[in-house]
Amino acid sequence: MLHIPNSDDQTPEWSVQSQLIHNGMERSGFGETAEALYLTSGYVYDSAEQAEARFKGEDDGYIYSRYGNPTVSLFEQRLAALEGTERCVAVSSGMAAMHAALACRLQAGDHLVASKALFGSCLQVITTLLPRYGISYTLVDGTDLAAWESAITKHTKVFFCETPANPTLALVDVAAVGKIAKAAGITFVVDNAFASPVVQRATPLGADVITYSATKHIDGQGRCMGGAVCCSEQFYTDHLQDFVRHTGPSLSPFNAWTLAKALETLDLRVSRMADNALNIAEHLEGHDAIDRVSYPGLQSHPQREIASRQMRNGGTLVAFQVAGGKANAFKVLNALRLIRISNNLGDSKSLVTHPATTTHRVLSEEARWEVGISNNLIRLSVGLEDVGDLKTDLENALRMID
Ligand SMILES: *Cc1c(COP(=O)(O)O)cnc(C)c1O
Repeated sequence: MLHIPNSDDQTPEWSVQSQLIHNGMERSGFGETAEALYLTSGYVYDSAEQAEARFKGEDDGYIYSRYGNPTVSLFEQRLAALEGTERCVAVSSGMAAMHAALACRLQAGDHLVASKALFGSCLQVITTLLPRYGISYTLVDGTDLAAWESAITKHTKVFFCETPANPTLALVDVAAVGKIAKAAGITFVVDNAFASPVVQRATPLGADVITYSATKHIDGQGRCMGGAVCCSEQFYTDHLQDFVRHTGPSLSPFNAWTLAKALETLDLRVSRMADNALNIAEHLEGHDAIDRVSYPGLQSHPQREIASRQMRNGGTLVAFQVAGGKANAFKVLNALRLIRISNNLGDSKSLVTHPATTTHRVLSEEARWEVGISNNLIRLSVGLEDVGDLKTDLENALRMID
């Protein structure tokens, strides 16, 4: 066992917020207040016998940072406490997490069902990369429960979805889809990056594996890439452990340190961002220059009932269609001063993007139409600025539309 000279009380009876501040704290001999950063690739052993015992798995110290690192473990322990899963494996990006979660579970001949409204790179993994290894797929309208059920074949091993979906903010009923998956013995993987663990916890709703882009809300300050797979001990030992150890999507200890510290303020930041988002969504709804606002926290959201069951609030993203087409959408984007144009999201800085010409550019016009990505659609990721200033910036920009 590792000797922990001075660790904080980490009993699981403390509430999640307290665990996010103290879990994984293992002070060095200096008694530092903040978590130490173990920027090391390897580890030394006291003896040849100890090295042998580690490799045999009889001594649980570290071996090599591709397998594990104390600072990466710190982040993993905190995120597992927040998600409520037995295990969390941190990796180098959100896409490394999504790919690992799917590829470790599937093999040639297997079939996967996914909702068609997905983050662009997830769609690429499912429709172009995994099929090269003999893994077939069916894309369904994620809101249509009968479609999930009828897509199941005897080879189906995984269901995959994202909710709210990027960028339309359509919702998948996680509990209902989870029930269908469970009845058929299918592993249900939910990409929870868009909501964040503050807004939505997919584990109690019935998801088996939850994946995160930590780049988004978890860092939330535009500093580093990261990702995570949260799962049961069994999924970890049966599928994930060997896959991540040997394919090497390891998270840098420096990024892990940044992300672990960011978890301390995640609830505060995301709750305030969601308050700002609701305020803005309400302000934009009914505005002359806007055709439609989509925000899960508005009464007008077509799946409001699902939102109230599975989300703590409406989240930090607002999608809206400006009157007219692409030209007007561009006019609004270009006139914003405080809110910057960027495809990133979940940041303390408010960011705005035109999905049809950026993140969802590779989809055909027809495919975009099917999931509701029109040429006048703008996606706004609401940050931590003063909400009055954000509304003023939007108001001034919307005046540019004739
Ligand atoms: C950003 C994002 C990803 C990919 O994460 P990276 O950290 O950019 O690799 C996957 N899914 C969703 C919903 C995302 O928003």
